Amino acid sequence: MTASPILFRGGRLFDGHRFLDQTDLRSDAQGKIEAIGNDLQPLAGEVVVELDGKWLLPGLVDCHVHFREPGLVHKEGYLTGSSGALHGGVTTVMEIQNNPPLMETAELLRQKMVDLHGVSRVDFVPYGNLTVRSMDQIAAMVGLTPAVKCFLGCSTGSAGVADEKTMRMLFTAAAQAGMKVVAHCEDDQIMADAQAHATAETADRHDLMRPAVGEIESIRNAIRVAGEVGAELHVFHISTADGGRLVAEANDAGQAVTGTTGTQYLLVTAEEAYAAKQNRFKVNPAIKSDEHRQGLRELIRDGRLQGIGTDHAPHPLADKDRPYAKAPSGFPSIDLVLPMLFAIADDSGMDMSLLLRAMTSQPADEFGLSQKGRLQLGADADLVAVDPNVQRQVEESELPSKCKWSPFHGRQMRGFPLQVWLRGELVFDHGEFPLKPSGKPIFLSEN
Ligand SMILES: [Zn+2]
Repeated sequence: MTASPILFRGGRLFDGHRFLDQTDLRSDAQGKIEAIGNDLQPLAGEVVVELDGKWLLPGLVDCHVHFREPGLVHKEGYLTGSSGALHGGVTTVMEIQNNPPLMETAELLRQKMVDLHGVSRVDFVPYGNLTVRSMDQIAAMVGLTPAVKCFLGCSTGSAGVADEKTMRMLFTAAAQAGMKVVAHCEDDQIMADAQAHATAETADRHDLMRPAVGEIESIRNAIRVAGEVGAELHVFHISTADGGRLVAEANDAGQAVTGTTGTQYLLVTAEEAYAAKQNRFKVNPAIKSDEHRQGLRELIRDGRLQGIGTDHAPHPLADKDRPYAKAPSGFPSIDLVLPMLFAIADDSGMDMSLLLRAMTSQPADEFGLSQKGRLQLGADADLVAVDPNVQRQVEESELPSKCKWSPFHGRQMRGFPLQVWLRGELVFDHGEFPLKPSGKPIFLSEN
């Protein structure tokens, strides 16, 4: 497919690391960035997009989403999920299958990527699953995915790894295959103890039933075992400041350990989550106290965590609207990623460039997506135009992902993407999707 060359003029360009002095960018007929400069002049027949001071960003890379396809498509699917992604400014998703069939063989991974041809509106990368069943399949997955997901604590649709012996066996298998492990870290025993000692006051406090210490101890153990067997480890959706610091310290000490936090842990506190109706903010790991939120903001500010993901994990509202103990964890968030980053910046005083970096160049570098997350000559022209000054109220029924509800419903937010281009083609235009889905699997070579 060929794109039309486009000249973007007069914007505030963010290159994945910093805002640039240059204001203009050209994408070529192959959908690549061909030039970045000032006063670029239109070529004959070229489409010109006048940015008038609006921001032009690399499409965001979300390293942690659940699109539930195949297996649970009444909750989400690639078409609706990827439509939500574009609405939120995301052009690449990295997706975790946590419902059957888990991605436990190279064949399943390959088949999934083939089946999604013509379905996804954004480029996509499914992770493999690291389980006792898939252990001897990991070597065959090399080249098809940058990492394999391991659940060290039980969560939606997944039992946690049973004991340390099993963790050691799994991490060893990944290390031998040279595959990075991405992990959900929470300690099942600590969570079971918290539930066994629940009182009337604590029994429906998600942050107390899945307490901070459960994550911190699980991260500590995972780092130790990964170090002992030589596995590369990435800890996902870190919700505690202490857990984030453990990752940063291991990384400082030269161990191959990295981590990401989640948009919700930088924005929301346990008190706000508890006050929300219908378990809308119930998510695993639980949203923690303001102290943890502040500590995580510091780690992102100092560049000591490698990024931010959403953990977009949708369920129909009817499933969520049950008594606390029966409501599933997770909520839809990908439709609002960019406004959430602006909200974090506004609330924390943090520079927007740090938050943008955490969802563009950092995850792209971490997971080997050399064409993504950057405005750089030769990179994919995945671009987002946004006017940071325009605010509006979130109306959940208008969000493109499947569930049509959001814990941010009714909130005034700013920074909604106006237009999004995928490899030089306009794929999102003021709420509309002008093209058929054209997203590609990044790790499946076309032939
Ligand atoms: Zn998740």
